[in-house]
Amino acid sequence: MGISENVRLVRETIERAAGGRRVYLVAATKMNGAEAVRQAVAAGVDACGENREQEFTEKNALGAYDGAEKHFIGHLQRNKVNKLVGKVDLIQSVDSAELLDLIDRRARALGVVQDILIEISIAGEEQKSGIPPEALPELLACAAALPGLRVRGLMCVPPIAAAPGDNRRYFAAMRQLFIDNGEKKYHNVSMDFLSMGMTDDYPEAIAEGANMVRVGTGIFGPRPYHVAEGQP
Ligand SMILES: *Cc1c(COP(=O)(O)O)cnc(C)c1O
Repeated sequence: MGISENVRLVRETIERAAGGRRVYLVAATKMNGAEAVRQAVAAGVDACGENREQEFTEKNALGAYDGAEKHFIGHLQRNKVNKLVGKVDLIQSVDSAELLDLIDRRARALGVVQDILIEISIAGEEQKSGIPPEALPELLACAAALPGLRVRGLMCVPPIAAAPGDNRRYFAAMRQLFIDNGEKKYHNVSMDFLSMGMTDDYPEAIAEGANMVRVGTGIFGPRPYHVAEGQP
């Protein structure tokens, strides 16, 4: 099936799960070329999310994302920050005070305000990206003091589920975290986006409150080889 047909089917599935709520569809474009990305944009995805700075920079130079937002969703290395700030609309995968600081400095140097999400390691897997949920208030307090950025919400990449439904409890925990920390009203923090759910589980994530989903395989088909999700 073609990319535009896939996008249409994903949108239909989103609508069924969302019951009228607005859900942003981010095409996870890693390992797909500029032409495939253009087709997804033409079919009406809201954003394209890349995992690697280099892939982003190459496809961006070709204008592949024109007409959609640009997001960075992969593991963020310190030395890539300057190449992304001001070029992407949303960095979804910020998980340390050090990264907050680097993003803030670069954004202020450019005279922009960079929108970001904080990535949460919701299943507590130590080797993965993301901060533990209990570290969120402290990181939001850090962000509140940095005028070069604005926290727009939370993101997570739960473990690959062994069985359908296995990640539902993690999505529910994310929703609670999103609500709890939204109420605290930090400066520079507005909990607008809860980014969770991928090809295998986005309807579940939406049922638990996601309003931004990141779909790769469901739009582009299988990638040429397996990349550990959320890794560079
Ligand atoms: C690859 C990727 C996705 C999409 O994964 P699919 O299972 O192909 O839909 C979503 N989020 C992140 C961070 C990814 O790396």
